[in-house]
Amino acid sequence: MSDKMSFQADVSKMLNIVVNSLYSEKQIFLRELISNASDACDKLKYLALTNPGIAKESGQMKIKITPDAASNTLTISDNGIGMNKEDLINHLGTIAKSGTAEFVKNVAENGSAVELIGQFGVGFYAAFMVADKVEITTRKAGEDEAWKWTSNGVDGFEISAAKRESNGTDIKLFLKADAKDYVDTIYLRQIIRTYSDHISYPIVLDLGKAGEETVNTASALWTRHKSEITKDQYKEFYHHISHNFDDPWLTLHFKAEGNIEYTGLLFVPSAAPYDLFQPDRKNSLKLYVNKVFISDKIEELMPNYLRFVKGVIDSADLQLNISREMLQHSPLIEKIKHGVVSRILKELKKRTKDYDDYMTFWKNFGVVLKEGIYEDFSNREEIAGLSYFSSTFSDDKLTTLDEYIARAKEGQKAIYYITGDDVKVLKNNPQLEAFFEKGIEVLLLTDPIDEFWPQVLPNYKGFAVKHITQAEADMGWKREEAKADEGSLKKLTDLMSEMFKNEVGKVTTTEKLTKSPVSLTVENGQMSLHLERLMRNHQQQTAFASTRILELNPYHPLIIKLADMSMDEGKRAQVEDVAKLLLDQAKIAEGEAVSDPSFFSEKMSDFILKSL
Ligand code: ADP
Ligand code: MG
Repeated sequence: MSDKMSFQADVSKMLNIVVNSLYSEKQIFLRELISNASDACDKLKYLALTNPGIAKESGQMKIKITPDAASNTLTISDNGIGMNKEDLINHLGTIAKSGTAEFVKNVAENGSAVELIGQFGVGFYAAFMVADKVEITTRKAGEDEAWKWTSNGVDGFEISAAKRESNGTDIKLFLKADAKDYVDTIYLRQIIRTYSDHISYPIVLDLGKAGEETVNTASALWTRHKSEITKDQYKEFYHHISHNFDDPWLTLHFKAEGNIEYTGLLFVPSAAPYDLFQPDRKNSLKLYVNKVFISDKIEELMPNYLRFVKGVIDSADLQLNISREMLQHSPLIEKIKHGVVSRILKELKKRTKDYDDYMTFWKNFGVVLKEGIYEDFSNREEIAGLSYFSSTFSDDKLTTLDEYIARAKEGQKAIYYITGDDVKVLKNNPQLEAFFEKGIEVLLLTDPIDEFWPQVLPNYKGFAVKHITQAEADMGWKREEAKADEGSLKKLTDLMSEMFKNEVGKVTTTEKLTKSPVSLTVENGQMSLHLERLMRNHQQQTAFASTRILELNPYHPLIIKLADMSMDEGKRAQVEDVAKLLLDQAKIAEGEAVSDPSFFSEKMSDFILKSL
């Protein structure tokens, strides 16, 4: 009796892609299957911690590779946790991971899947690159029944009862006509050494009459001495644990000694993963206790703002038989986290010495790291020091806060910044004119997180961190140019305040504009217009919208003239038209939409025509 089942729709699509677009990288199927076998051994070992009886039939954990030239098959066996019927259906017929649809879309758009296949947890299906039929015989540890799962990787799979001596899984591949190389032991040995040397269980190659040979080093990579590990071995290990395919940007292998001892082997990828900003994205540090895998879900091990770090932490000081839940709240975990974070930050600091190299990292993960200024009270100044920003100083190079301070003008006591959606638009914001005039540098911040971290970092190395709206008092202006007279200016601001009372909180004059007649800003200390736009985009409607202020430049000839005209009742209609256009101009400079586009374009054309 066997049950026939079809693949979930996503699986079929994905299989099609895996089989057809990864053709040139076929040999990775073996790495994926060995990796699964290793995971299965890890899981059983963990289970055995609290249920020692469960692995008693297993003996030593190992992974066996059996090629058979006569039948043209290759079998990958392990004595790990195994699968029951439910597991087979859930894990090998559907794709539980939410990334699958995205995987399919991504491949359709970019045409290549090789870097992504691991990330999306679809490694098993790589078997169908080399096999036109896969037969799995498996028995779950602690259960008596065994099961057989077969599939041609096209329409679905069949499950039937089977026999297996003990727990574990055999994955038998019926090799395709063009994949016969995979029964060649020399070739197999080479592939295993290249991709799977770091696996901590012995990978045993069946040589037929010649017996068996352990092909890999079979010791946990992180327990080996640095000097015995090659760059390629680090890289393959990184691929194994991260499911990424790039070269690591940073490899950090260390032993911490002192009141708690642990080893860390950590990596920072050189490419950003697709799901860096998905809210359900979790850290993926693996925690081992004395080489026994415990969990990759101990979120307390790594702060959120370092969620891009991949790797392994192994400590013999943690208790083996403690539950995962208990571990999460263990003060030892807190201590490890503390130590690990400070190591990573130190290492990042070193890498800032090479600007271009650091930028590879910064472009991928800078936005995430900056969350740390907000989140990590004890390290905020250090993280701020590792951060790079656009500024008015240079168009093509980002700056650090320390460089900013080194360039500060005599008497300048603050680091000034402005926030907005786009660096180019920000640079032309009229609010910056006085700063340009005085040669005072301003940071141009465009990431959503930039709205938040300055609020928790009021000072950096003795410099106040200030939004430019808080700068007017610092600027100490004395201007000599012609200015609109007080009386007419008052008349104009009153008139405009009345006209725009539903749009802006007030209309005032400012000393800080030089080129522009008007500019839009917010009341000191209120949410910036940029943040407000961000909130609006996230449907967080304007319940707490900031009060807008329309600032007039009393030195600008246009304002002088308009103030003058406002004294003449006969010119009221004309003054009002110009006033409306000025408000629109201020909005455009801030990156906001004009209030009435048809009025705007009609009046613009009128004025242009008059000037021709
Ligand atoms: P991933 O390894 O990222 O979860 P795979 O497609 O490689 O994705 O494997 C899917 C799932 O199938 C695994 O998570 C595991 O539950 C199950 N599985 C695959 N191979 C084995 C095996 N040798 N032993 C036990 N379970 C396995
Ligand atoms: Mg896998």
